[in-house]
Amino acid sequence: MSDAHSEQTHFGFKTVDKDQKASMVAEVFHSVAAKYDIMNDMMSMGIHRLWKRFTIDSGARAGHKVLDLAGGTGDLTAKFSRLVGPTGQVVLADINQSMLEVGRDKLRNLGVVGNVEFVQANAEELPFADNTFDIITIAFGLRNVTDKDKALASMYRVLKPGGRLLVLEFSKPTQDWLSKVYDLYSFKVLPQMGKLIANDAESYQYLAESIRMHPDQDTLKSMMEAVGFEQTTYHNLTGGIVALHKGFKF
Ligand code: SAM
Repeated sequence: MSDAHSEQTHFGFKTVDKDQKASMVAEVFHSVAAKYDIMNDMMSMGIHRLWKRFTIDSGARAGHKVLDLAGGTGDLTAKFSRLVGPTGQVVLADINQSMLEVGRDKLRNLGVVGNVEFVQANAEELPFADNTFDIITIAFGLRNVTDKDKALASMYRVLKPGGRLLVLEFSKPTQDWLSKVYDLYSFKVLPQMGKLIANDAESYQYLAESIRMHPDQDTLKSMMEAVGFEQTTYHNLTGGIVALHKGFKF
């Protein structure tokens, strides 16, 4: 007898069939792609730039091969491209064509092209050979993936021995008062902002819900260890609203 529950997952607070989630997530990002960058700046009051800066500062060097997974509009790719230089390479991979197109146009306008490749790919089944990348980043992407364990295992496979994974993601605030303020902001202010700026309250309601459903710091750390990552650590940013997880493949 099959277990019906094993075929279900979360889309924000909704329970949906596993095979429905990817297309529902795709709809969200097709819908927000054009306004994605301005919404990020408005919603986080620019702080997402500091979280990304902190991620970038975690070890890329000239000549490195970097995978910016779920790279969307390419904020991390642009920075990595400069750091790895002409002898390195950055692959911006994302499942969503609309996000990739916005990313490609933006990077072209910024003059970032030479060492960047764009690939449409699902994090769960990365189309790269084993042991390819020195660094993999996934920023604000993992919580949208249907099978996170499968995606983490796929990242582990394509990372070189000695390479590192950096997961930048919303997480769990460490203080009760901050959780309360943050809840109010997420569920009252964000959807209204989404409505006003992007004419899309629903996508920003999903954003708030998907953040609450995402594994907390220690759970994600254990998930990384379960697929083989070693020396796993995390660093809370902005009181744990966001955390940067790090893990190595040896
Ligand atoms: N990394 C970028 C940033 O920090 O601004 C974009 C983050 S955006 C919130 C999430 C991205 O994850 C979207 O571009 C979406 O298309 C992508 N995504 C969702 N599910 C994915 C999957 N299964 N595989 C690859 N990318 C995925």
